[in-house]
Amino acid sequence: MLRCLVTGGAGFLGSHLCDRLLADGHEVLCIDDFSTGSRANIAHLEGHERFFVMEHDVTDRYFAPADRIYNLACPASPIHYQRDPIKTVVTNVEGTLNGLRLAERTGARFFQASTSEVYGDPDIHPQPESYTGNVNPIGPRACYDEGKRCGETLCFDFHRQAGVEVRVARIFNTYGPRMAIDDGRVVSNFIVQALRGEDLTVYGSGQQTRSFCYVDDLIDGFVALMEHPEESGPVNLGNPGEFTIRQLAELCIRFIGKGNQIVEKPMPADDPRQRKPDISMAMRQLGFEPTIDLEEGLKKTIAYFEQKLAQG
Ligand code: NAD
Ligand code: UDP
Repeated sequence: MLRCLVTGGAGFLGSHLCDRLLADGHEVLCIDDFSTGSRANIAHLEGHERFFVMEHDVTDRYFAPADRIYNLACPASPIHYQRDPIKTVVTNVEGTLNGLRLAERTGARFFQASTSEVYGDPDIHPQPESYTGNVNPIGPRACYDEGKRCGETLCFDFHRQAGVEVRVARIFNTYGPRMAIDDGRVVSNFIVQALRGEDLTVYGSGQQTRSFCYVDDLIDGFVALMEHPEESGPVNLGNPGEFTIRQLAELCIRFIGKGNQIVEKPMPADDPRQRKPDISMAMRQLGFEPTIDLEEGLKKTIAYFEQKLAQG
């Protein structure tokens, strides 16, 4: 049994990770400030003998005994991370620093939830880990992109300078149950709009692409990466199936079918035009292979939101 600490454990990905670690027989301490996560995401774990919750902002130092630290605390949706961009930078830098200091003190292995956003608006396609990216350092997404890039820097400096064992996952767009209804990311927006009989808001012409990974596949990758015996630099985790945003809207309309229309809204600044992970490293080193395609994953996610909206 490992003592696992999950920052951001009440969020979308964090709550699934807590489930998985508990199912694997570990002890889990979830640390969260509930800024974008929710108690509802972890309500089913209340009373579990190996599950503990600490309400805490990771930008303030903290201590807990740990063998593994999964650092997920950070708003992930553009509307959330752009609402208070200074706080987003601080969360990514100070929050990661505090987690790494704890790893140094306890000897825990440290996992960083990094992102495909470190590649910015990529001019290499698909994106391999060796690509150093094309990020606008002063634009509205920079608080997140540059914050995450600095988080990676801290990880590898703590590894080189202090001997901390680090695992860095560059996560590509992931979706599934427990995304918040008002999260603002494209999959939850489209499903909720479609279920409510509203128009689907496509930003720009909808020709920009993303590659969507179902949450269960991603969590398999998290654990495989954390438990991999060797440090090997950042690893892309995601599903390489690539879709335009318009195709995604059309799929949601097809599956939900309430006669919804697609409406075009202005394209946000610095929105990446294309994104698709090269996952050959994860496949080779971790045996990682996504198994749930977009159609299947969307149906599971639609079922979740249907129930959620029915509850009011
Ligand atoms: P989320 O917003 O659902 O979860 C983030 C969690 O962190 C929330 O529970 C929130 O309350 C908590 N949090 C935020 N700031 C905090 C702070 N200062 N102190 C303590 N807790 C704090 O988002 P998610 O999709 O679950 O993302 C989890 C992590 O994965 C994030 O670090 C995100 O950058 C990364 N990521 C996610 C995706 C994706 O597609 N879901 C893609 C790339 C990277
Ligand atoms: N998007 C959209 N409509 C929405 C929300 C997002 O067209 O209601 C677009 C957004 O402009 C981007 C893509 O969908 O091109 C993915 O957006 P999301 O916020 O989910 O993730 P990210 O941009 O961080 O990849």
